[in-house]
Amino acid sequence: MKKIVVVGAGTMGNGIAHVFAQNGYHVRLVDVSESALQRGMQTIEKNLDRMLAKGSLTEADKTATLGRVTPHLAIDRGLADADLVVEAATERVELKLDIFRSLDKIVAPEAILASNTSSISIGKIASASLHPQRVIGMHFMNPVPVMKLVEIIKGYNTSDEVAQRIRDLSVALGKIPVLVHDYPGFVANRILMPMINEAIQSLFEGVAGVEEIDQVMKLGMAHPMGPLQLADFIGLDVCLAILRVLQEGLGQPKYAPCPLLVNMVTAGHLGVKSGSGFYEYTPGSKEVRVAARFQ
Ligand code: NAD
Repeated sequence: MKKIVVVGAGTMGNGIAHVFAQNGYHVRLVDVSESALQRGMQTIEKNLDRMLAKGSLTEADKTATLGRVTPHLAIDRGLADADLVVEAATERVELKLDIFRSLDKIVAPEAILASNTSSISIGKIASASLHPQRVIGMHFMNPVPVMKLVEIIKGYNTSDEVAQRIRDLSVALGKIPVLVHDYPGFVANRILMPMINEAIQSLFEGVAGVEEIDQVMKLGMAHPMGPLQLADFIGLDVCLAILRVLQEGLGQPKYAPCPLLVNMVTAGHLGVKSGSGFYEYTPGSKEVRVAARFQ
């Protein structure tokens, strides 16, 4: 696999493109929004600069890595020679089905179509393809350049060969693949999201404040980041979308999203990406403070 297409240049897509490019693969990074594409390219450069400053990369590596990422505005015939597409667009079923329908027509049948979905059924996504055996989940963790895990989700029709190739590829990217089956939320989010939801519910019920909840989980459970800050980091809209998938797919009330989370997403408080969630963030600054309404 030489030619990689990454669809979606947001939080995950630019990180995925970064990791492929740093490992020598040529990547076309696709988004329908010009500003998202620009931001995605800038984020890759910023993250490479950070690595450069730490000494884990040379100036020449940085230039070569950036040179391997080409921005591309639309899913079109220009992507026809891809060997692998990793879709990392917004977590919405209909959107992903549309994207896979389009890709299936453009990309050669031997190419692999992977989704970075956090929770949507790979079988469902594969139903948009005439070749469902080539559709697989390749679930990177955030931030992609740092996190080692790739959760690989084998759909009902995914071939063993495709699963093996994606496992080998993950290793070639310096990651550790773990193979799981295709049930709502897979493993990572089936366990993580109820914890985040419970943290939000605890805040909603006034059990404790934002900092206190995060401190308990950091100091008491040795989590590197508290659940509320992690939710901000993932994106509250993404958390809500995943909880809805769990709620619908597993049919149990315990997965119902906390009303506070629903309200925050409706109001556009999405966490780091919107500048405000449980905490407030200033672009370009590392300073993080509890959002005014939760103080
Ligand atoms: P995001 O909102 O940061 O980015 C999504 C991008 O997709 C946007 O730039 C948007 O313009 C683009 N997009 C929308 N429709 C498109 C289309 N038709 N073609 C091309 N691009 C399109 O979202 P994200 O957090 O990067 O999440 C992307 C995927 O990764 C989701 O499936 C999400 O569940 C999954 N994921 C997210 C995280 C996380 O921590 N945020 C972790 C693992 C997996």
